[in-house]
Amino acid sequence: MSKVYTFGVKTDQHTAMINITKDVQNCVKESGIQNGIAIVFIPHTTAAVTINENADPDVVRDFMKEMNKIVPLSDGYLHSEGNSAAHIKASMMGFSETVVVDGGKLLLGTWQGIYFLEYDGPRVRKVHVKIMEG
Ligand code: ZN
Repeated sequence: MSKVYTFGVKTDQHTAMINITKDVQNCVKESGIQNGIAIVFIPHTTAAVTINENADPDVVRDFMKEMNKIVPLSDGYLHSEGNSAAHIKASMMGFSETVVVDGGKLLLGTWQGIYFLEYDGPRVRKVHVKIMEG
């Protein structure tokens, strides 16, 4: 058995890192699936998903600061939409994560959280979650 869920994420800044662990866990709970995998997929080209530390908010700040250094917001990009940095960062981080579901819960490490990465906000975004039993 498998189920697909979609939930929205509203971002209010140009760049943001939003913890969506609870939203994904809610999808797992609603599915009733006890054991399997959850795939989190971002259907956008300037937003992404990653798993990282959920405890110290400074990690989020450092993460965003360093990403802006690696891929500057402006650098003579040719893309007429003006958001090349967002496209590049999104592909660097990736559009999906897979998490093991065990006993109806996401089997994340104690310090791990699932983060939605906004690189071209503010926007209203979508997150798809596919939960597969097995
Ligand atoms: Zn673009």
